[in-house]
Amino acid sequence: MTTFVIVGGGLAGAKAAETLRAEGFTGEVVLFGDEQELPYERPPLSKDYLLGKAKRESAFVHPAEWYAEQNIDLRTGVSVAAIERSEHRVIFEGGTQGYDKLLLATGASPRRLEVPGEALDGVRYLRKLPDSDALREIFTGGRRVVVVGSGWIGLETAAAASIAGCEVTVLEPQPTPLYYALGPELGAHFTALHEAHGVQFRFGETAAEFHGDAAGRLGSVLASSGQVLPADAAIVSIGAGPNDGLARGADLDISNGVLTDAALRSSDPDIYAAGDVACSFLPLLGRNVRVEHWSNALNGGPAAARSMLGQQVEYNRVPYFYTDQYDLGMECSGLPSPGNYDEVVYRGDRSSVPGEFIAFWLKDGRLIAGMNVNVWDVTDDIQALVRSDRTVDPSRLADPAIPLSEV
Ligand SMILES: Cc1cc2nc3c(=O)[nH]c(=O)nc-3n(C[C@H](O)[C@H](O)[C@H](O)COP(=O)(O)OP(=O)(O)OC[C@H]3O[C@@H](n4cnc5c(N)ncnc54)[C@H](O)[C@@H]3O)c2cc1C
Repeated sequence: MTTFVIVGGGLAGAKAAETLRAEGFTGEVVLFGDEQELPYERPPLSKDYLLGKAKRESAFVHPAEWYAEQNIDLRTGVSVAAIERSEHRVIFEGGTQGYDKLLLATGASPRRLEVPGEALDGVRYLRKLPDSDALREIFTGGRRVVVVGSGWIGLETAAAASIAGCEVTVLEPQPTPLYYALGPELGAHFTALHEAHGVQFRFGETAAEFHGDAAGRLGSVLASSGQVLPADAAIVSIGAGPNDGLARGADLDISNGVLTDAALRSSDPDIYAAGDVACSFLPLLGRNVRVEHWSNALNGGPAAARSMLGQQVEYNRVPYFYTDQYDLGMECSGLPSPGNYDEVVYRGDRSSVPGEFIAFWLKDGRLIAGMNVNVWDVTDDIQALVRSDRTVDPSRLADPAIPLSEV
């Protein structure tokens, strides 16, 4: 019988397994996940679940019985240690598993801040359900929380802590939050949003050391400026790196993740990669990119599964991200990092926070990204404009009287 093995029981892995069955694959499907939990989605971990508004089960991609119904051999709590390509098998503690095709969906892990005191109780990272559980306990009124790094997870965590009544300070080396994700213009909007909720930013600073109290728990954070910040907890959110150790060990081509073509095939034609671990060729951009976003796992897992089944696949989606912070909800299509664009054009009201507007990033007169803040049902139009790769008139983009589909 043909056996397809998926390593990584997150969203990409679970969605790939679902697609294999939906497409009629009747062979063996083995899904390895090293966490104890059923495959789950991570966005609630820094939003509704962290805020105590969503149940644990609501994060699960499928309920437990679904795997048995679909005849998917889900092995939770099992870490795959190596790939033996010549034998077409993976090795895990206590056994081996042969494969005809293999999908790597091993995700990413938080970058560690390797400074003195990083191992102290009270210094936290956020990636897994137990991490979110721990923060839920910590975030109670009056606690002093230092967030190190203000990317998406840092800001969402800061919002949750602030809503819970904590005193929140954010240390950020760049001049704004989300500097590399959105650039300084929109970063400033998120500064204003958080400041309106009492969060304090210290730009140009990071954590130099974590100091323990008499009980050996975190007591304060020494900022790089020399300032000592009393702290009950510090959440380090300085980005994530791909879990590409298995691929490295197997000598696959790697560069910021597992390199794949547009069909999500790695340098070994029987091994595929999807989700946060994959650095895939995106025809739209004409280069390989690693996209650490929910929708890339949601759609990339199924695309890889179809490719494993021998279908013609060209994975070519506009990168898409969303966030919820306080009363701001937004979606962003495209990759508007500094250096990628020449100007930002706005439609709508961003004079106050959260605002109701769309931001458009232009490069050489073409739309490379668009972000809608508390404005809905415009993503398809924004993505169509990005895909079109044609020059657009900024004044028409800015004019709310002109439908986006007619810009
Ligand atoms: C707190 C948080 C909030 C987020 N919020 C948003 C959001 O609002 N919007 C958005 O677009 N994106 C968000 N993201 C990003 C999004 O969740 C990720 O892009 C998505 O989880 C990637 O899915 P994945 O399946 O590729 O990897 P993962 O979800 O990381 O799953 C990979 C799994 O494989 C396991 N694994 C790794 N190595 C092995 C091995 N050797 N053997 C067995 N198992 C292994 C890992 O432990 C993990 O369980 C958020 C991420 C986090 C952490």
